[in-house]
Amino acid sequence: MAPIRPLPAQIIDRIAAGEVIQRPSAIIKELIENSLDASSTSIDVSAKGLDVSVSDNGCGIEKNSLKLACTRFATSKIVDFDDLRSVKTFGFRGEALASCSMVGRVTITSRRSGDKCAYKMNFRDGVPDNVNCAAGQEVEPKPCAGKDGTTIQVQDLFYNVPSRRKAMEGRRNEREEYDRILSVVQRYAVHEARRGVGFLCRGGGKGGKQCDLNTQSLGSVKRVIEKRRKDGSLSEKGFGDEEVAAVKDVIAHVFGSDVTRELLPLTAGEGDVNAVGLEALKAMAELGGENLQDDSEQTEKSTKSVEESNRLLLEEMMMSVADSQIDNKSKGTKSTDASDAVQASTTNSNKFSFAYKATGLITNGSYSASKSAAAFLLFINDRLVESPSLRRAVESIYADTLPKGGKPFVYLSLELPGPHVDVNVHPTKKEVALLHEDRLCDALMAAVREVIGSATSSRTFVVAA
Ligand code: ADP
Ligand code: MG
Repeated sequence: MAPIRPLPAQIIDRIAAGEVIQRPSAIIKELIENSLDASSTSIDVSAKGLDVSVSDNGCGIEKNSLKLACTRFATSKIVDFDDLRSVKTFGFRGEALASCSMVGRVTITSRRSGDKCAYKMNFRDGVPDNVNCAAGQEVEPKPCAGKDGTTIQVQDLFYNVPSRRKAMEGRRNEREEYDRILSVVQRYAVHEARRGVGFLCRGGGKGGKQCDLNTQSLGSVKRVIEKRRKDGSLSEKGFGDEEVAAVKDVIAHVFGSDVTRELLPLTAGEGDVNAVGLEALKAMAELGGENLQDDSEQTEKSTKSVEESNRLLLEEMMMSVADSQIDNKSKGTKSTDASDAVQASTTNSNKFSFAYKATGLITNGSYSASKSAAAFLLFINDRLVESPSLRRAVESIYADTLPKGGKPFVYLSLELPGPHVDVNVHPTKKEVALLHEDRLCDALMAAVREVIGSATSSRTFVVAA
């Protein structure tokens, strides 16, 4: 065997980027989240094979920042460690655009409202692409025409990773991938209807030009955005009559009006999410105080050190959760350490109180959704995520009332104390680790049972009367 040698930086970057950007639909999710972070109210997605693009009407990127948009671990969303504890944006790792530029050709066109024109820049391998520049000359953003907002194109994806590219090519793969993209857009369109954000998705059909989703022209969605503009509360996500109407309209648009007729509203909660969030932040500060000090002395305000301390801190916190789960499992064993461990774990879990808020729309207990309408849309703190255990828990309630193989339609939005959700378990942030997962499952099962049960009994009552 050859001696062990460190890999060249470019290969490391490409491998890391492949983790974040596993496929075109992962790019779309990142770009949509960026557009939402930029307070956009209308987001257009288009995709064709290994070329994708997202266009929004958000705040835009300032000309000088544009050059840094694809720099790894560079972000406008947090400045220092304290921001990280209360971060409300989807992004904060400053990794998505950088990763895109390592495995594809990125073009960003952006204009801030009030600017004279838009600016455009091409990127490759994390830096502005200088192919058309004289040697030694720095590339500058190019002025161009464009409307307020940002358009990010990622083209020729995986041009430099032939194996990955091969696996994605071909009509069948392209169609499958487009379905994944459409599904991401559909889900965000449902959830973000609550804030009046309208989506458009183009890319199906023969020429790849077909418009497969458009919620921008739905009257109910427009009404929400008008209301928000009037109250100046653009970021809030209520679930009053107007918001419910908008969400239902989008569900009807995407999943069909049959399913919409069977939907029941769900609202449930326990504890004060914000108060518990604060309490957890304090506990985390205690846990991570040392890391923070060491890091900040060496590289003050370095985004990389923020990233690292964040990881350490969350890891430590989640470890205490994992410990408690392992310890619970070892309860029954004869290990002499078991009782100590159980005691320690109880103390650890007690450090973090439980709180949650759930809102959503779920089908009743007797309606079996058709294959195209059966779905489980889960948002945790507004992020589209997957959680097999929460899904199993909720669907188990339906298993009691639906015929065998019958599936419900479930749209659930959970608010959890930020520090109780670890989105860093995976670079794509699609899978999340949750503190108190078991308790949350129990609480949701009870809430779903209650909603379905009261609907059934009120029906029975109507019939009997
Ligand atoms: P992150 O979202 O974690 O900050 P990204 O790589 O996704 O990292 O984006 C880098 C930066 O580019 C963001 O912090 C933001 O300033 C800017 N940006 C990206 N997309 C948009 C957009 N659609 N509108 C405005 N700014 C954007
Ligand atoms: Mg981002």
